[in-house]
Amino acid sequence: MDAIPQFEHTPLEGIPELARDARRTFLSHKTRPIEYRLVQLRKLYWGLKDNEGILAEALKKDIGKPPYETQLMEVGMCENDILYACKNLDKWTKDQKPEDVPLIHMSFRPRIRKDPLGCVLIIGTYNFPIQLCIMPLIGAIAAGCTAVLKPSESAPHTAACMEHIIKTYLDQDAYKIVQGAVAEASSLLDQKWDKIFYTGGDKVGRIVAKRAAETLTPYVLELGGINPAIVTRHADPHLAARRLLWAKLVNAGQVCVSQNYVLVDREILPLFVAELERALKEFHPDGVRKSKDYGRIIDARQFQRLKHMLDETRGRILLGGTMDEEDLFFEPTVVQVEDVKDSLIVEESFGPLIPLLPIDGLDEAIRLANEIHDTPLGVYAFGSKAETTRILNETRSGGISINDAFAHVSVPTLPFGGVGASGQGAYHGRESFEAFTHRRAVASTPSWVEKLIAVRYPPYAGKLKQVELLSGKPNFDRDGRVRLGVLGWVKHVLLSRNLLFTVLGE
Ligand code: NAD
Repeated sequence: MDAIPQFEHTPLEGIPELARDARRTFLSHKTRPIEYRLVQLRKLYWGLKDNEGILAEALKKDIGKPPYETQLMEVGMCENDILYACKNLDKWTKDQKPEDVPLIHMSFRPRIRKDPLGCVLIIGTYNFPIQLCIMPLIGAIAAGCTAVLKPSESAPHTAACMEHIIKTYLDQDAYKIVQGAVAEASSLLDQKWDKIFYTGGDKVGRIVAKRAAETLTPYVLELGGINPAIVTRHADPHLAARRLLWAKLVNAGQVCVSQNYVLVDREILPLFVAELERALKEFHPDGVRKSKDYGRIIDARQFQRLKHMLDETRGRILLGGTMDEEDLFFEPTVVQVEDVKDSLIVEESFGPLIPLLPIDGLDEAIRLANEIHDTPLGVYAFGSKAETTRILNETRSGGISINDAFAHVSVPTLPFGGVGASGQGAYHGRESFEAFTHRRAVASTPSWVEKLIAVRYPPYAGKLKQVELLSGKPNFDRDGRVRLGVLGWVKHVLLSRNLLFTVLGE
């Protein structure tokens, strides 16, 4: 690609046929052979590698993303995920032996086969427009599915580049792209899919889920989150400030997993604010406005939304607060708020707003975090080991990073996804393959077992006793207490780690 191609909407009337075509290809079994999948993945790798420069240019135009962030968190992340999938695909696609099969059922030779789900739809959003489309696509290809991608229209330059890559490097019968906005996305949701993978806000997420329910289509929803960070009085304010500030500087805070608000113990609040200021000066010595390493807000609509949130706050601006709509520049802004109902807390900012809510101890922090949003995408816990363990045990979230901001997302072998209102389903690494795979139960009964399985045939008279003999017996009573026989006790004593170590005098 020599230049960024023109972004053009896909003609609406062509969408049904495009979807049918992708389905026909799946039904032709073309995408099932492992070698085919590997070739497509390798080609996708080179499609990204060969076009790194132009992709960086496109993202700079779309969202002012610094090329370093594009390489690290968009293109490089996808390339690494492809290499990982290529290395492990043989292992992932192998039939699995189910665990703990009772002796009587072994004759059915049970196994779990990894079948591709079929023809899938991937709808992406604008903040990481490459990663959020290509990472699910890697999973779909690896699983043997065909796929149609619908990138976000809000990042048109990047979407046009992705179209070029997909059309030039991949099998056009199997992998397709639809460009457009609501009308095109709605038309896609009218078609038949075997899975829908949606990333974006919860409002559209509900639409996708409802539409999917009409045809009983399974879906993955990767939604947003009102993510808390908790900084206790025993946290290291220097580290907490640097790490949390970084999370709000990346992509100008347009990161679904960045903290939406920070609950800071009142005792260390002044120190924490001083450290935020110090870190900001260190990261952007000439100020963020002039820095090449700070992005822009995607468009005027999102800019206005952020501005409105800031206008509505009853908090006190401690750092930042400047903005320029023409340039879509929004300064990282630290605001001390006193109320959980503040506009900066109740809404997801998805931008460089950093509200700090002072708290008096960990009990209050955990209570407030659960009250504000009890199933966010991420939780970030800064404090002593005992404190962060309590936060881990007493909150819920898609993922959690302890003494860091969204570090868990960068680990390529950890599942990434939400829980409850922040979404369902997960991907990255092997999880992407699993997201598009059906674990098909297979039994294959040899003829020689006919006598053994005769117990299932009528006439049934007298057969229940035989079945009961083969059934398991509980080792617990009606109060739920474990009741062990003499042999059971001996086994329990020998296997009990604590007892054994007590005897050995550990
Ligand atoms: P957006 O406007 O780009 O919309 C997302 C996608 O939905 C686009 O492709 C768009 O065309 C499509 N769409 C819009 N209206 C639709 C409709 N009526 N029917 C079908 N499709 C429709 O982005 P957004 O929704 O503003 O995204 C921001 C949100 O995404 C934030 O809440 C953020 O937290 C979340 N997000 C989540 C993740 C994650 O991985 N969990 C990642 C990035 C962003």
